[in-house]
Amino acid sequence: MSEVESVEKFRALSPSEFFYRNREIAGFSNPARALYQTVRELVENALDATDTHHILPDVKVVIKSEGGDGSRTLVNSEGSAEEYEGVLYSVQVEDNGIGLPPQHVPRAFGQLLYSSKYVLRQSRGMFGLGAKMAILYGQITTGRPAEVITSQILSKKIHYFKVSIDIANNTPVIHEFSIMDKNNEWHGTVVKIHLIGDWQRSKQKIYDYLKRTAIIAPYANIYFEDPEGNIVMFRRSTEEMPVPPREVKPHPYGVDIELLKRMLADTSAKTLTEFLVKEFQNVGELTALKILEGAGLKPDLKPSELTLNDITELMRSIKASKIRAPSGRHLSFLGEKLIVLGLRETLKPEFAAAVTRKASVYEGHAFIVEAGIAYGDKVPPSDKPLLLRYANKIPLLYDESADVMRKVVDSIEWNRYGVTLPAPLAVLIHICSTKVPYKGVGKEAVADVPEVEKEIELAVREVARKLKSYLSRKAKEYEEAEKAVTIAKYIPDIARSLHTLTDGKFKREELEKELLQLLNKKLTMLKIKSLKEVVIEVS
Ligand code: ADP
Ligand code: MG
Repeated sequence: MSEVESVEKFRALSPSEFFYRNREIAGFSNPARALYQTVRELVENALDATDTHHILPDVKVVIKSEGGDGSRTLVNSEGSAEEYEGVLYSVQVEDNGIGLPPQHVPRAFGQLLYSSKYVLRQSRGMFGLGAKMAILYGQITTGRPAEVITSQILSKKIHYFKVSIDIANNTPVIHEFSIMDKNNEWHGTVVKIHLIGDWQRSKQKIYDYLKRTAIIAPYANIYFEDPEGNIVMFRRSTEEMPVPPREVKPHPYGVDIELLKRMLADTSAKTLTEFLVKEFQNVGELTALKILEGAGLKPDLKPSELTLNDITELMRSIKASKIRAPSGRHLSFLGEKLIVLGLRETLKPEFAAAVTRKASVYEGHAFIVEAGIAYGDKVPPSDKPLLLRYANKIPLLYDESADVMRKVVDSIEWNRYGVTLPAPLAVLIHICSTKVPYKGVGKEAVADVPEVEKEIELAVREVARKLKSYLSRKAKEYEEAEKAVTIAKYIPDIARSLHTLTDGKFKREELEKELLQLLNKKLTMLKIKSLKEVVIEVS
C-alpha cells in the first residue's frame, strides 16, 4: 500500500453537517444575507401554514437588536476559525396558521430534510430545509436554541419548545418543553431565532422582500417591526384568496425508474392495471392496458413480481404512450384580478394589467405562468423594465441575472409594444408548480427549462399587448384632444360668421355655447376630460 493511500480517511457526513459546511448554498453566506434569509424562510412557513389552508394570513415579524457588537470567532467542524462580524439579533415570526402537531415539532425544527411538504402539492417550502437552516445558523453564531410556540386549530393546548440541532447526528435537541392550557381561539405558530446578523446591510432587501410579498399576497396582513423601532403594516386590500392548492398523484411522464420501483413496492394494488389507474394521474383502465401491452406485461401481474427488466420495459412503454397532460387544476395561481390589485396598491401605476396562462407541462410537472405589467405614474423609470419575480408566491430577490425570467424580459423588443426605454415599466412574473425548477436550494432563480421559458415569453407578450393597446388608445385620444383644442380656437369666429350669415337669427353667445357643448360631448364620448382641462393640458 502506498503512503498516500494509507492516509486517506473515509467517513459519512450527516445532512446537518453537510449543510453546516455548505450553508451558503441555502442562502446563509454572511450575516446580512443570513438575516434576510431567516426572515424569508419564517415568513414563507407562516404563509404556507395559512393561505394554503384557506386562512387569511395575519403575519407578525419582529426583528430586535439584542445589543453587543456581536463579532464572534467560531471554530468550525474542521477546526478552523471563522469570523462573524455583526450584531446579535432576534427574529420572531408569528402566524395564525394551522399550527403543528406537537410530536412533529422537534424534527420539523431540529432535523434537516424533515418536512410535511414532500408531497405533490404546490407550496413555498419544498426542500425541508428553511427553518432548520435559520436555526442552524443561529445556533452556530450565538450558541442559542430556537423557541417555538404552537397550537393547532382544534387543540385545547399550547406547546412550547426550545430546540436546537445535533449537527453530527442530524437529530433534534430539546432544551425545554412545556404545555399550557388554551382558553381562547388562538391557533398558529411563533418561531423565535437568535442570530448574528447585519441589519444595515440587509435592511433594503428585507423591506423589498416584505413589500413584494404584499404585492403577491394582497389578502395578507403583514406587520413588521424593525430593529430601529419602525413599524410598518402591509394591510390586506382584499379578503379574496386564490383557490388553495390540492395534492395530486404523480403524472406518468414525471416518474423515473427509481420512483417507479418505489411505487411498485409501496402500492396496495393487487394487479398492474390497478396500480397504474390508482397511483397515477390521468390513467384510466384503457390507457393502463395500452401501456401494459406496449411493455409486454400481463395486466393481472402482481406489482411486487416485476423484475428490473420488466420495470425498465414498463418505463419505456409509459414514455411512449399517449397520456393526457397534467391539468394544473390543482395549482394555486393568483389570477388576473389579484395581480392587478397587488400592483395597483403598491406601485400606484397609471395602468396595470395581468394575464394567467393555461397550465403547461415540463417533465411531467404541470405549471402555470402569470404575468402582470404596471406602467406610468408612480412606477420609477428605469433603463430596463423593473422585474418582480415570483415562484409559488415567493418573491425572488437575489441572482436576478441568472434567472430565465430576466432573460425573457430583456429579449423583448419593448418598442414594439409602444414603450421606449428608459420607461416607468414594471413587469411581474409568477410561476407556480408542484416542482419549480429552481437553480439552487436557496430558491433565488429559476432555471432555463425550455417549456417554462416559452410560457414566460408568451405570458409577457400577452400582457404587453394589453399595454400596447392602452398606449395607442391614449395616443389617439391625445391627438383628438389636440384637434379639439385647435377647433375650439375657431369657435368664436365660426359663431360670429354664423350670426352674420343668419342675419342675426341666432345670438353669437348662444352659438358659441352650443358649439362648445357639442365639442365637449364628443370629448366625453372619447373618454377625454372636459375641453377646459384639455386646453390647459395641451397648451
Ligand atoms: P419546508 O418548509 O421546506 O417543509 P422547513 O424546515 O421550513 O421546511 O419546515 C419544516 C416543516 O415544519 C414544514 O414542512 C411544516 O410542516 C412545519 N412548519 C414550519 N413552520 C411552520 C408554521 N409556521 N406553521 C405550521 N407548520 C410549520
Ligand atoms: Mg419552509
